Amino acid sequence: MLRNALRPATLSRSLFSAQQSRFASSLVYLEHKGGKLNDSSLSAVTAAKKVDGNAAGILVGSKSDVDSVLSEAKKIEGLSKIYTASSDAYANTLAENVAPLLASFLPEKGITHFFGAHTAVGKNVFPRLAGALDSSMIADIVALEGEDTFTRPIYAGNAILKIKSSPKDKIKIVTVRTTAFDKAAIGSGAAEVEEVKEVSGDSTTKYISEELTVSSRPDLSSAPRVVSGGRALKSQESFSSVLDPLADALGAAVGASRAAVDAGYADNSLQVGQTGKVVAPELYMAIGISGAIQHLAGMKESKMIVAINKDADAPIFQIADVGLVADLFNAVPELVTQVENAKK
Ligand SMILES: Cc1cc2nc3c(=O)[nH]c(=O)nc-3n(C[C@H](O)[C@H](O)[C@H](O)COP(=O)(O)OP(=O)(O)OC[C@H]3O[C@@H](n4cnc5c(N)ncnc54)[C@H](O)[C@@H]3O)c2cc1C
Repeated sequence: MLRNALRPATLSRSLFSAQQSRFASSLVYLEHKGGKLNDSSLSAVTAAKKVDGNAAGILVGSKSDVDSVLSEAKKIEGLSKIYTASSDAYANTLAENVAPLLASFLPEKGITHFFGAHTAVGKNVFPRLAGALDSSMIADIVALEGEDTFTRPIYAGNAILKIKSSPKDKIKIVTVRTTAFDKAAIGSGAAEVEEVKEVSGDSTTKYISEELTVSSRPDLSSAPRVVSGGRALKSQESFSSVLDPLADALGAAVGASRAAVDAGYADNSLQVGQTGKVVAPELYMAIGISGAIQHLAGMKESKMIVAINKDADAPIFQIADVGLVADLFNAVPELVTQVENAKK
């Protein structure tokens, strides 16, 4: 009961009742990196299809990147057309260069809805585009209730806001919370392809370099299993020595609470929550994490939540499917042994 009350996004999702419109024309921003399509865009496709069963997609990037992603993009179920815009100026997805292209292209093609994933790219490109089109930005939606009505979580997911877009906004600029929409399948689709002319902005912004945290573990945002640790891990050394064997045994990604990140036990890229990543894996293990609302905002959509905490009154137990009241320094090594034995 309580768990459902804490899961408004799931509730909204099941109440979805938008009708596809004959007049809508939806386009999806297909994100990619290193020649690979970003999975999160497939959730944006699912959202777009709720408005327009015949949505299109757009790939923007350097010619080599667009070429390598195109064959996969053409197969996305539910996309009838893929627009491609390639130029060196679009490599590395600088919003300063990509937004002017989209601001010119969308009205020209009569697009009514432009969807993308609420990722770093979506958060960067879409507001700039909305500004250029003088449209309101509709961010981080978890459901559609019609072609101009959307819902999104606010107050760290404790309330759901229903937004009706103004009729004056001819193009709805929308980012979607990827955990709230299933991913469109990549299968037998055979979208036609149309090239888009380059639009050069007059930006002085230049891409210099990027530093990425390299990990051999699954990507935290999309991993089916996540093992997360909190302040109780006490140090960077014990964070790794206790959690890594469990993550290895389960083939899981590692996450962390903000307290663990702030204390320097875990890298900032591992933070789960309101100001970190939003995840919804099959299995989420919260180890030595109290369950503050800001942490729950990033993981409460997980299918199975397991909590280990020595305080039986810790709030995390209110949302957990399975709870173990125990000292993590004893419980986790024991669990690792059991998982390893079960594999034999
Ligand atoms: C604007 C804002 C944004 C925020 N964004 C985020 C966010 O994105 N993500 C996030 O996580 N937090 C966020 N926070 C912080 C959040 O409010 C909490 O402070 C934080 O989540 C607490 O982290 P924790 O659970 O690891 O630590 P604590 O709250 O200190 O909990 C530690 C837990 O470990 C248990 N414990 C201690 N020792 C053991 C042991 N040996 N074995 C088992 N259990 C043990 C304790 O009983 C306790 O429940 C945000 C706060 C604000 C104000």
